[in-house]
Amino acid sequence: MNCRLCGSETNKSFAAIDGITLYKCDNCLLIFKAYDLELEPDSEKNRYLQHNNSEEDQAYLRHLNTAIQPTLPFLSSDMEGLDFGCGPNPVLAKVLTKSGYTCSFYDPFFFPDLPDERQDFVFATETFEHFSNPAKELQLITALLRPHGTLTIMTNRWDENTDLGKWWYVRDPTHLVFYHKETFRFISEKYDYSLEYDDGSKIVILRKLVCR
Ligand SMILES: [Zn+2]
Repeated sequence: MNCRLCGSETNKSFAAIDGITLYKCDNCLLIFKAYDLELEPDSEKNRYLQHNNSEEDQAYLRHLNTAIQPTLPFLSSDMEGLDFGCGPNPVLAKVLTKSGYTCSFYDPFFFPDLPDERQDFVFATETFEHFSNPAKELQLITALLRPHGTLTIMTNRWDENTDLGKWWYVRDPTHLVFYHKETFRFISEKYDYSLEYDDGSKIVILRKLVCR
């Protein structure tokens, strides 16, 4: 089994719950599901339609704000950004637009057009865990960012205290990959980012170092 992020070979089956086999990569510390557990695209899209988030949902807005607030010091109103993997309703882009920022949105299922221009910031909230090929998505996001642009990622992380046999995050069939704090260190080095912010559990802000 090759790691979905760094490509290293691993045969370390890490945990199995309800027929879910997980693998752990010793190189980048990504935990990932077996490839045969990926949903068909239609089933995956239907799952996202069932979890349609609304800008009227105050709890969801507070949740998004935990990613927006620490990013604001990096932003100014003349910047352009992208809500990457926004799902059927681009709530984060709407919130930022309402606050005076320019933010477009992209989702492979619902809004598949990418912006022509490079972006000053990218948000990927509750998106990275869905990537079947995180290496490919990181290449895409990195190509979309201008030098010194920021990438805000919100995804629940595992650590040595996580009981993978009970973790709800693993049970969602659209969640394929699970990151460790060290995985973001690996990502920063491989794709040339500096790690600017880490809330310790689910949010990191990376800043692109050089033009790629
Ligand atoms: Zn790996």
